[in-house]
Parts: sequence; structure tokens; C-alpha cells
Amino acid sequence: MERTLSILKPDITRRNLTGAVNEKIEKNGLRIIAQKRLHLSLEEAQKFYAVHKERSFFNDLCSFMSSGPVVVQVLESDNAIEHYRKVMGATNPANADEGTLRHEFAESIEANSVHGSDSLENAAKEIAFFFSEIEMVG
Ligand code: GDP
Repeated sequence: MERTLSILKPDITRRNLTGAVNEKIEKNGLRIIAQKRLHLSLEEAQKFYAVHKERSFFNDLCSFMSSGPVVVQVLESDNAIEHYRKVMGATNPANADEGTLRHEFAESIEANSVHGSDSLENAAKEIAFFFSEIEMVG
């Protein structure tokens, strides 16, 4: 079993779609073993996305991620990191395959509904950023 960090972004909470996304996550065989709703400050978003700080869209991304509530989750399944990336679809919803979360829900390349860790190392760091071991119940 593997764990990955998922975030339902502010475009999802604004449109009241948390349950709709969670239904798809569960139907795809991922178990939500931890979950909470937070409103990140700009500073917290900047800390979470520090790996992207050299990218041109860093400031816009951090403003968007702190613009409203998010739902942070730990998902568990076999091969959860790669599996959830497939369930999410391409970063730009215009390129996301039918059936993926971003194809169905994303508004734009920035407001693209979901985040998922991209490696084992980042998953461990990102999970520890939001959750302690006692909050994860498989
Ligand atoms: P991901 O792993 O598919 O989420 O994509 P990246 O790691 O490349 O980018 C992180 C996040 O930054 C994306 O999920 C988007 O929310 C945002 N993002 C990516 N590319 C762009 C862009 O060209 N412009 C803007 N404004 N945001 C972007």
C-alpha cells in the first residue's frame, strides 16, 4: 500500500463539489484515510509550493490556493501516487482525458481542481506538512 497527498483546490469548494470529487476518488479504488478542510494563508501556500518558487506562475498559484478553503486528504491504494495522477488527468484540463477529474471539473490550467503528489519523496513531505500519524486511519 502507498499513500499520496491530495488537495481539492478552492475552485472545488467554491462550487460545493467536494462530495462529487470524493465519490470519483473512491470509485477509482482510492481510500480517503485522512481529510480536513482548511483555508491556507498566502504564506502557508508559498511554503507548501516552495519547490515551484522559480516558476513564472508561482505568485498566481499561491494567491489562488489561498483564495478560499481547500480540502487536504491522504489517499491510500496500491501504487497510489501514480494511480491518483492518472485519475486527476493532465495539468491543463484542455489536455485531460475524458473520465479524469480535471476533464470533468477543472476551470483552467491554474484552477485545475486537484493536487496530487508526484513522487514518493514529495508524498512523504506533503503528507507530513498537513497530517500527523495519528490522523491517518487506513
Ligand atoms: P501538476 O503536478 O499537474 O499539479 O502540475 P505542476 O506541478 O506543473 O503545477 C502545479 C500547479 O500550478 C498546477 O496544478 C496548476 O494549478 C498551476 N499551474 C501549472 N501551470 C500553470 C500555468 O502555466 N499558469 C498558471 N497560472 N498556473 C499553472
